[in-house]
Amino acid sequence: MKKLLLLSFCTFSLLVSAQKKYVLVVHGGAGTILKSSMTPEKENAYKEKLTEALHAGYAEIQKGKSAVDAVATSIVIMEDSPLFNAGRGAVFTNDGKNEMDAAIMDGKSKAAGAIAGVHTIKNPIKAAIAVMQKSEHVMLSGAGAEEFAKDEKLELVDPKYFWTKDRWESLQKIKSKENSKNSKKVSQNILPESYEIDQKFGTVGAVALDHNGNLAAGTSTGGMTNKKYGRIGDAPIIGAGTYANSQVGISATGWGEFFIRATAARTLAAKMEYQNKDIKTAAQDTIDEIEKMGGDGGLIALDKDGNIAQPFNTAGMYRGAITDKGEIFIEIYK
Ligand code: ASP
Repeated sequence: MKKLLLLSFCTFSLLVSAQKKYVLVVHGGAGTILKSSMTPEKENAYKEKLTEALHAGYAEIQKGKSAVDAVATSIVIMEDSPLFNAGRGAVFTNDGKNEMDAAIMDGKSKAAGAIAGVHTIKNPIKAAIAVMQKSEHVMLSGAGAEEFAKDEKLELVDPKYFWTKDRWESLQKIKSKENSKNSKKVSQNILPESYEIDQKFGTVGAVALDHNGNLAAGTSTGGMTNKKYGRIGDAPIIGAGTYANSQVGISATGWGEFFIRATAARTLAAKMEYQNKDIKTAAQDTIDEIEKMGGDGGLIALDKDGNIAQPFNTAGMYRGAITDKGEIFIEIYK
């Protein structure tokens, strides 16, 4: 009996010591990402970019920089890549513009910053961080946000910088389909045709845990192809697409209207805080609720002990994580 007890204790200790501690998690969007429609080159390109984003953010953490710095570094790399729907490579609005949203939240201070509907800020996540650190506001939008970015000496670019052929073609495809059908869907629970066609959401996000045990979460996106009337999604809305406190950080991706109505990111944190749920259960519950409402997408979450969750209910989600020892894990499909 004694031997048995000792054996199970040893197995338990081994399991505990083998448990990985993650310090950074990233996503590059959820959607209809099918292996059958992916080339090996494209798959590699995504994996390489996610790896680069993870390494760069990890290096910040190793240098003793803050979780906010690590999140910013990872997201800037993805914003600068045309592969993702954020920064260069953002999707197009109905009137042919790239209109971007981004947010950051610092878990320790619960300070947050966001920008929405901007066309000229090269790295929207940097503007969100500037809002958090250098203004008395949480969210700025449109021309005002751009003026603020200019005052803060952030890099502004010609809107043409964000143009990519793939995204432009997606818009044209959606528009021609829309014109030929001429149907009008006006319900929050019916996916607009435009979204049905272009379900490669592609938003980017990161959550980091620094050496001081602080968490931060950030998200950056071009929103959804063919969006109209200044539509803003969940990414820049604190508590919907982005949230962090001292226990957990979250960044979401998917059909934003649902993440807003579900207050998804804050709901996940509340499940941990008030229901004592572990991160995996809380995260899965949140995505299950979105699915029940009729929405789709995914999220990444990282808690103060280095546990992660990356649930999604789409065919795929570009996602990756790195441990405190620098081990990288990247996945795309279900
Ligand atoms: N959640 C984003 C939005 O609705 C889209 C995405 O994740 O790609 O704006």
